[in-house]
Amino acid sequence: MLWQFGPDTRIVIGAGAARQTERAAAYLQAQIERRCGWRWQVARGGEAGPGTIALGIPGDGSPAGPLLPEHPEEIALCSGGDPNAPSAVALAGGPTVVLAAAGKLARSFDLRPGRAGLPSLSLRERAAFPVRGHTLANHKQNTTYDKWAWEQWEEHLTELAAWGNNIAVLYPLHVGRWPGVLPFDTPAWFATPDREDEFARQLDIQLRLPVLCHELGMRYGIWMPPNDVFPEEVVRHPEITRHGRAYVCPHRPAARQRIHAIRDRLFALLPHLDVLFIPSKDDGGCPGCPDCNPWAPTYLELVQEHAALARNYHPECQIWLAQQGLTGPETRFLLDWLDRVHPDWVEGVAFGPYSELMTFGDAEGAGGALSLERYPRSGRISGPLNRLRAALPGRYRMILYPDETHTFRCQYPVVGMDPVVQFVWDRENGPAPRPREMARLHAETCAAGDGAGPYTEGDTDDVNKFVWSARDWNPSRSGEEIAAEYARWFFGSVHADAATRIILSVEDILNGPLYGNPAVAEARALANSHEADDPGLLDNWRWLNLRLGVAMLSYVQRVLVRDREVAAELRYRAAVWHHDPEPSASVRETVHHLERRFAETGGLLDEIVWTRDRLFTLHKLAVRGVPRLQNSYLKLDVLLERWKEALARLERGELTDYAEKHAALIGPLREAEDSVRMGVRGVQLVEHIREYTWESGATTWVW
Ligand SMILES: [Zn+2]
Repeated sequence: MLWQFGPDTRIVIGAGAARQTERAAAYLQAQIERRCGWRWQVARGGEAGPGTIALGIPGDGSPAGPLLPEHPEEIALCSGGDPNAPSAVALAGGPTVVLAAAGKLARSFDLRPGRAGLPSLSLRERAAFPVRGHTLANHKQNTTYDKWAWEQWEEHLTELAAWGNNIAVLYPLHVGRWPGVLPFDTPAWFATPDREDEFARQLDIQLRLPVLCHELGMRYGIWMPPNDVFPEEVVRHPEITRHGRAYVCPHRPAARQRIHAIRDRLFALLPHLDVLFIPSKDDGGCPGCPDCNPWAPTYLELVQEHAALARNYHPECQIWLAQQGLTGPETRFLLDWLDRVHPDWVEGVAFGPYSELMTFGDAEGAGGALSLERYPRSGRISGPLNRLRAALPGRYRMILYPDETHTFRCQYPVVGMDPVVQFVWDRENGPAPRPREMARLHAETCAAGDGAGPYTEGDTDDVNKFVWSARDWNPSRSGEEIAAEYARWFFGSVHADAATRIILSVEDILNGPLYGNPAVAEARALANSHEADDPGLLDNWRWLNLRLGVAMLSYVQRVLVRDREVAAELRYRAAVWHHDPEPSASVRETVHHLERRFAETGGLLDEIVWTRDRLFTLHKLAVRGVPRLQNSYLKLDVLLERWKEALARLERGELTDYAEKHAALIGPLREAEDSVRMGVRGVQLVEHIREYTWESGATTWVW
């Protein structure tokens, strides 16, 4: 049975409610308003009782519920009372989980227009890991974040807090990705006024985010490479870099001075800074430099200098180190330093992409204890983390920093991906929900860590973000279960089952051959039928994100099928031209035939472009894979262009020479047919059978 709450329900918070509790109440209020159409009043210091939802932290004046949290990161939820005027209580043990309490309560409701039903609740939950967050890479490379307005940041970070996150790591200034600006010079310099405006717009938002994070009960951290400067500084002073471009050489004093000056300025501007995450490489390092390699000693020097600069302004700031891109011996150097110096300003070491490098190398060498190259058992994913955890002094945290965004050329690629989908999706250019795979990765790695701050580049990884969030809170939850909660929360109970199936289906489709996969049409039909029933879904960017993924996969699949059909047709159409002294009419008809076949997918392409553009309008999501949709993945589109050129020449009375005509008409077809086939040709391993005494190598014939 559900306890039905009415339109006059009040959200009661204690007289001494903290800002985090106010934010939590506002979140609950906004969710009810959006989903039920009611605006529940928030009453500070009000009486709890029938028809109320009490929210708070024990001791802030909020009413005591039947269950009390017993840990600062525990929440307790209860519901019940009078069936005609039920009540609920959501209490948090401390400010870092009060949004999580409100979020858990909100997601427990069945919310529909004019209805808010809550099951009987009596639960206490404690976050499983102390570090729960994401590294939101808002540099110029991501699909969304750098273009977001304040409102989008506020909504997204609030939602992450409501799913239990207690830290957000941002890129307030990835200096190496800002060409054409010298904002900290006196006077400041910008290549163009629009660049100045954009820099100012982004910096303004970034400088407000630390306060927002604290209000949401989250720590605020920043990711900042150890040695980049604004690219324009290198343009003007090429002597400060070796081969790293904006990643200048710290052994050149002028470079070091510039590295420090930028960081000093940024740290001074930030109102809060709880965590400074300094990656070792990716990004960082001085490639090809004899003074800077091996990199670990220079990296550690910079870390100490930057920590001191940050702690001048933010004395409590903690540092996250990394050993990304460091070899076994370099990682040993870093670990030895931690063991010897025991800096209390280091919180831990992040394990991210390229951290696995430490496990490669000579088992006899200085880093050999970390090597997995001669390790005879399974554990490819978990082995490196467990090695690092075992070697890290116990006082330091190990923070998982997995890549939850990319599908290719990355730490955790979608290994079964169809090559054409890989071409379109590239690294992050198509929607890529991977709930079960992310849950598996979490399961393999979480035991070694103290929580996670996965790397995210925007909205194409949205589902994955919630999988890591939910499992950092409770690692017993499955990918399917979290996908279902995501679907129910963001699309409503009516669409929850269908959306869950679509999410899981896209994950499956992305991980296998596309040709002949019936799941594509099923997912598309499911999406279409729900949109027909509820066109409001087309205003929901998360729905559009899924819809676009399905439509793009459907498009590519249709093209793959058509390519095979058309290639077979063209072979015989072109065969006529061998003999026909006047093939113009036949070529013209074939060109038209090809155009007609290509037009078959025009409607779907228009729909995809509409969806892409709507996503950009609604949420600034740039799905960059869409321009990689083509009329053919067998170069039949290129063939069409070449046949049109040949036809124009025939019509001008050119191409009268038989050999020339043959080359212009038959050659492009052969090239198209071979385009994919020959792309896999490598080194021959086996000799041909010698079929005739007068031949060696492959047998040949002429006709
Ligand atoms: Zn150097």
